[in-house]
Amino acid sequence: MVTIHEAIDIVLASVNPLPSEEAPLLHAFGRSAAADEVSAEPVPPFDNSAMDGYAVRAEEVAAGRRRFRVVVEVPAGRWVDREIGAGEAARIMTGAPLPPGLDAVVPFEVVEEDGDAVTLSADVRSGANVRRAGESVAAGDTVFLRGTVLGPAEIALLAAVGRSTIPVMRRPRVAIIATGSELVPVGRPLSPGRIHDSNSYGSYGQVLAAGGEPVLLGIVGDDPSETRRLLSRALAYDVVLTSGGVSVGKFDFVKEALGDLGVDLRFWGVAMRPGKHLAFGVHGRTLVFGLPGNPMAAMVGVEVFVRPALLAMQSRVGIFRPVVTAVAVESVKGTAACTELRRCRLMRGDEGWSFGTTGPQGSPAPRSMASAQGLAIVPPGYPGGEAGERLSVMLLEGSAEERPPFPE
Ligand code: AMP
Ligand code: MG
Repeated sequence: MVTIHEAIDIVLASVNPLPSEEAPLLHAFGRSAAADEVSAEPVPPFDNSAMDGYAVRAEEVAAGRRRFRVVVEVPAGRWVDREIGAGEAARIMTGAPLPPGLDAVVPFEVVEEDGDAVTLSADVRSGANVRRAGESVAAGDTVFLRGTVLGPAEIALLAAVGRSTIPVMRRPRVAIIATGSELVPVGRPLSPGRIHDSNSYGSYGQVLAAGGEPVLLGIVGDDPSETRRLLSRALAYDVVLTSGGVSVGKFDFVKEALGDLGVDLRFWGVAMRPGKHLAFGVHGRTLVFGLPGNPMAAMVGVEVFVRPALLAMQSRVGIFRPVVTAVAVESVKGTAACTELRRCRLMRGDEGWSFGTTGPQGSPAPRSMASAQGLAIVPPGYPGGEAGERLSVMLLEGSAEERPPFPE
């Protein structure tokens, strides 16, 4: 039995980064940048106005001129070649290029217009309300590093510098197998004693969310040769996730099958709850996770071990969930020799975060996971006590019912 900490070390030491491929921009969302991104183009590409107003020469204003003749109008997208002379100004819109010779923009609000002329009511310094070429991104700037996850802002930034494709890490291909003679696929009626396979679906979603490419290989009954056959097909993938059949029952054939297929088992059992019966092994470059059958334990196992592994395979810079400290609204007593991960919801109060667990933690259906926003980490043998204990809560992402505290 290893600790969660040791198990994560063992898993990460077995990870091989995947190769990269070129992806069109719109297919790159959620993927990892395979190289540092160095901009070939400046953003913005030319000096332009940050306001709707009048472009002038600041020097002239400093020398005492207040009244200018408006000689040209520059909407966004129009390029003015002609030099603007002494005493002249341009009516200019936000984003429009500054005509040659002009270096400051005075907003409409602080000028008086009459016919073709404008009168300024204040001084203006050179560069006022002007966005300089290359001000946001200079040509040659590194805009983000290899291993950055490509979210909307990164993709928009790539578009701003004119990129239509980007090198990304290949997605890990993940084979998912459910084991258990009691399992029936969804869409088929249950006969007495049978239950629907839900682990395949939970794992599928978790793999997708971690940037992987899940493939359901289906259900295998508790039969040694059938288990071996499906597992040997699965070993062609980057990662294999099995669920069930890894405890110590008479019908738990997964361990035996993995051994027969030459999978090098690196650990078998983790001091955590849920998810104690979790196995991990390596076959060539393939990582094999034998997840517990209990749906909640399987999900927590994917969250704690498989997700970081999938992200590390994609060379992701951050592979762990963010953690907040939160106050328990109920008593939290730990289990001896076992770290407990309690599914919980977070609440924002005047004193910061607090958390409450999401219903019975021992339930076999992944119900307490369904509404969870975090996993509260209860150390082994934690004495607990009344409500008010402060614990670390690993965030599982999500949205809140409460609006952020924007000033009214
Ligand atoms: P096992 O680890 O195979 O002993 O399974 C532990 C518990 O999880 C049993 O109650 C199984 O019926 C249940 N279980 C195993 N696999 C699945 C699955 N794919 N979907 C839903 N429940 C499962
Ligand atoms: Mg089973």
